[in-house]
Amino acid sequence: MEPRYVMVLDTRRCVACSACVIVCKTENDVPEGGFRDWVVSETRGRFPALSTENRSLRCNHCAFAPCIDNCPTGASHRGPGGTVQIDRVKCTGCKNCISACPYDARFVHPRGFIDKCTFCMHRKGAYTACQTVCPTECIHFGDANDPGSEVSRLLATRDHKVVAPEAGTRPRVHYLV
Ligand code: SF4
Ligand code: SF4
Repeated sequence: MEPRYVMVLDTRRCVACSACVIVCKTENDVPEGGFRDWVVSETRGRFPALSTENRSLRCNHCAFAPCIDNCPTGASHRGPGGTVQIDRVKCTGCKNCISACPYDARFVHPRGFIDKCTFCMHRKGAYTACQTVCPTECIHFGDANDPGSEVSRLLATRDHKVVAPEAGTRPRVHYLV
């Protein structure tokens, strides 16, 4: 069966250190001012009963991807393992995809094309760069079609959620809660 790549992040382990953000910059030569991933901290409750949830965010590689549907040139397309990729040569920089993305996951690269997380597909489905440096090992990446994979085990045994499910895009980045 074809792989179906997903990312599973453990909000109970993330300490918002931003190591994932920094290594992504280096690994993918992300230009100044652009980000392929970023971290948010959300505090809930009423003092003193407060709790904070940290989430490392990125493109969700949505199963129903409005960025692909709204790309007039085919630059935004379905890549290996169901990922969402951008062909830099076909991209005209029209920004339709930026307008269509409910997650603000894309940015304009200074060289004129649109950029975003690729799930490190240049590593051909092996560990993503962010995963390798996370000091609390809260980032997991793998094939959800493989019942023996770590991501399948986590999704089967832990409560999890996606960001803004109401957008209807079926994100493939899952957060353990
Ligand atoms: S998060 Fe945005 S850029 Fe990524 S696949 Fe979904 S709609 Fe496209
Ligand atoms: S900016 Fe590029 S990827 Fe985005 S819709 Fe336009 S051509 Fe497609």
